[in-house]
Amino acid sequence: MTAASTPKTVPCPTCGKPVEWSRSQRWKPFCSERCKLIDLGAWIDEQHRIPGDETNAPDEDIRD
Ligand SMILES: [Zn+2]
Repeated sequence: MTAASTPKTVPCPTCGKPVEWSRSQRWKPFCSERCKLIDLGAWIDEQHRIPGDETNAPDEDIRD
């Protein structure tokens, strides 16, 4: 039972930071609410994206 004393960790899907897999980790598998919301936002953005319209869209040039 060598692993008993070592908490299981999983990489945060958003930032890759190790997240302790425990009941106290309410945002698992994310490390924080922020990462959970970021991932959720990315997922929603994916759903709303219009297929075939990527060639004409400026990608990372959006600034204030
Ligand atoms: Zn994270």
